[in-house]
Amino acid sequence: MQAYAREPVVFDRGRGAHLWDADGRAYLDAIAGVAVTNLGHAHPEIAEAIADQAQRLVHTSNLYSIEWQERLGRRLCSLAGMQRAFFCNSGAEANETALKLARLHGHSRGVASPRVLVMENGFHGRTLATLAATGNPAVHRGFEPLMPGFVRVPYDDIDALRRVANETGDVVAVLIESVQGEGGVRVASTAYLRELRRLCRENDWLLMMDEVQAGLGRTGAWFGYQHAGVLPDVVTVAKGLGNGLPIGACLARDQAAELFVPGQHGSTFGGNPLACRVGCVVLDLIERERLVSHAAVLGRRLLESLQADLADQQAVLAIRGHGLMVGIELDRPCPELVTRALREQQLLINVTRDKTIRLLPALICAQAEIDDIADRVVRLVRGFLRVALA
Ligand SMILES: *Cc1c(COP(=O)(O)O)cnc(C)c1O
Repeated sequence: MQAYAREPVVFDRGRGAHLWDADGRAYLDAIAGVAVTNLGHAHPEIAEAIADQAQRLVHTSNLYSIEWQERLGRRLCSLAGMQRAFFCNSGAEANETALKLARLHGHSRGVASPRVLVMENGFHGRTLATLAATGNPAVHRGFEPLMPGFVRVPYDDIDALRRVANETGDVVAVLIESVQGEGGVRVASTAYLRELRRLCRENDWLLMMDEVQAGLGRTGAWFGYQHAGVLPDVVTVAKGLGNGLPIGACLARDQAAELFVPGQHGSTFGGNPLACRVGCVVLDLIERERLVSHAAVLGRRLLESLQADLADQQAVLAIRGHGLMVGIELDRPCPELVTRALREQQLLINVTRDKTIRLLPALICAQAEIDDIADRVVRLVRGFLRVALA
């Protein structure tokens, strides 16, 4: 179906932060499959785990115990400060799980029509519930009627939270990203996340953090909320967890972790031995290679060099980010830059919300590769603005 406007290039193989097309032309990857291949392409240890597990056992279903799933659940919960995990196959499914927990939590409190607080410019997926939670009219258009049960407020706005707390009795949870990715790389302030945590406790709202893009080391912490020192009740992860193999998880603690009883939720593929073993290898490698602090250091370097080298450009409105999650907002639409980056710079980037260049390089990038990404992006932006102004 015509769900995507694709670039005509076909990649044939990859290694680390590089890709090659069928003609052997090399490209530098600054998007990592949209925050997925965080350990780079064709990682030998991941390839080996996939091959070995494929020869032992790929799938048995959740009718039976799965050792790799239990192991990955324990690892993720200990990193995230959570207690129980539900495994699925994508970010949208992880968020669907969180939204079902919110409904159960609401009903357990006697709220007949529970609602979830969500953010302007938030992104949570493309299923009917998660697209309704998403704060982008372009994602909604054509799919009405939207699933009810959401209240939307501006992101990073403490007063808006307080208003809802005072005026609305049926809110039972908040679903929010620590850094909005698709919404233009916007970082929630520490003061905001702390006040959000306080209001959730005071009002018995579940604080549900969507860490599908920002989680697993990308921002320079295992999870974005850890920079603010807050602990959510529910955390969703996916994207980078399988380094390209589909896997997602919804993690929860305390009362939120006890809401499901057998029969209330499920997934045929979710938590299979293959995906979960790969998830364990991904976490091992992030730890062993110290990629969380590496992302913090290289992210700062990338942000600072872009800020320095584009400082004279009036048309660049903002350069912001956290760790290896960086956005360059222009004063004009620039979706064509994706094609131009490929053709002119042999570089893979993304443009989100029409005007923001989004960079999500693999966490394994060497400093020289990050500098190379910065150089190519600066040349690209300068060339684009020069032509656009002429
Ligand atoms: C990508 C993304 C999702 C959706 O994940 P899928 O695996 O595409 O369903 C949800 N939330 C955030 C923050 C994302 O970046």
